[in-house]
Amino acid sequence: MKVLVVNCGSSSVKYTLFSMTTEKKISWGLVECIGLPEAYYKRQTLGTEEIKSLCKVENHFQAVELIIKDLLNPETGSIKNIDEISVIGHRIVHGGDKFSESVLVNEDVKAGLKECFSIAPLHTPHHYSGIEAVEKMLPGIPSVLVFDTAFHQTMPDYAYMYAVPYEYYERDHVRRYGMHGTSHKYVMQRAAGMLGKKVEELNIITCHLGNGSSITAIKNGKVIDTSMGFTPLAGLVMGTRCGDIDPAVLVHIMSKNPKITSEEMNNLLNKQSGLLGISGLSGDMRTIVKAIQAGNKRAKLAFDMLCYSAKKYICMYYGILNHVDAIVFTAGIGENSPTVREKSCEGLDNLGIKIDVEVNNMPSSEERFISTADSKIKVMVIPTNEELMIARESIKVLANN
Ligand code: ADP
Repeated sequence: MKVLVVNCGSSSVKYTLFSMTTEKKISWGLVECIGLPEAYYKRQTLGTEEIKSLCKVENHFQAVELIIKDLLNPETGSIKNIDEISVIGHRIVHGGDKFSESVLVNEDVKAGLKECFSIAPLHTPHHYSGIEAVEKMLPGIPSVLVFDTAFHQTMPDYAYMYAVPYEYYERDHVRRYGMHGTSHKYVMQRAAGMLGKKVEELNIITCHLGNGSSITAIKNGKVIDTSMGFTPLAGLVMGTRCGDIDPAVLVHIMSKNPKITSEEMNNLLNKQSGLLGISGLSGDMRTIVKAIQAGNKRAKLAFDMLCYSAKKYICMYYGILNHVDAIVFTAGIGENSPTVREKSCEGLDNLGIKIDVEVNNMPSSEERFISTADSKIKVMVIPTNEELMIARESIKVLANN
């Protein structure tokens, strides 16, 4: 049984073809810089070298067409007949409050997705194009939508509401949605396995720290709060995003710069802030770490701010969960930066959170515990695998239908 996972981002399409008998990747790749002259296609099949070539793709529809044509190539492709694919799983960034779980695509679902265009305008129209391209190229093969927001739909109203006039919620759907749900869910399930507990009995704090970062409080296997909000801008200090700030700062900036447009403001907060904004160097953590080693003070400040924001969320969620089984770190920074993990948990011994510094510093790409033997709350590193989670969800939805 093969499952194709398609991830249409703002300017790229990534794909992974899984064999679900082994849950192993057969082939994977991406089309990057869609619509630009430098657009390229990078792909790899298990046991072969990566191939990279320039390509001419105007939009996401063409990018998905290119990928599927290549997968079906009689000489080099991984699929001989489209019927080998049981289901296509599409990663969808934002399902608004319309979608609280993964769904099989039909005309009603597509209409519902169209209604979500305005909440995530940089992504959802591209997701839609991806679905239509798949329908054209792989006719009759079912598609499933897996939403980044769905796992967070269990939050209680007092956690997801913003205290602005209620009509903005009713009319404009303004509320906290949360993101990275597929990743938080995947590491929660892995953590349950490693702790030998049922998911329904698990209380954990999951820290997805990458270019975009979010922390989630999970009680009895269900999300009760998460740091990202209406959009992925809220919460922690991130690579280029500001995270939580006093909203009056925006009003202040606008009053000082009356000509600033909403697009420029969006750009300032999403693309010029975070590690990049503070350091003036880069939004990439590896560059920040190198600059700190070279004595750069603003890089150090940016690093400290990121760790401090993570620690604040860990402590807040400890408070609302009361009993916590484990804290899990995942994604690019969470999996690879022992210093960020250490700093985010520094001084929390009294809460029962103790990292074993030696174990934490050991390089590894495996799932592992990094807390001391006597740490009341376990601290873990679990590499995320959003693609596999989407593949699993797609099969589950298919079976239920
Ligand atoms: P995305 O949110 O785009 O999926 P990732 O989860 O891939 O991002 O995380 C990217 C971040 O992880 C970057 O800031 C990168 O510098 C950081 N990162 C990757 N490897 C390391 C490492 N060895 N040490 C510190 N940071 C790392």
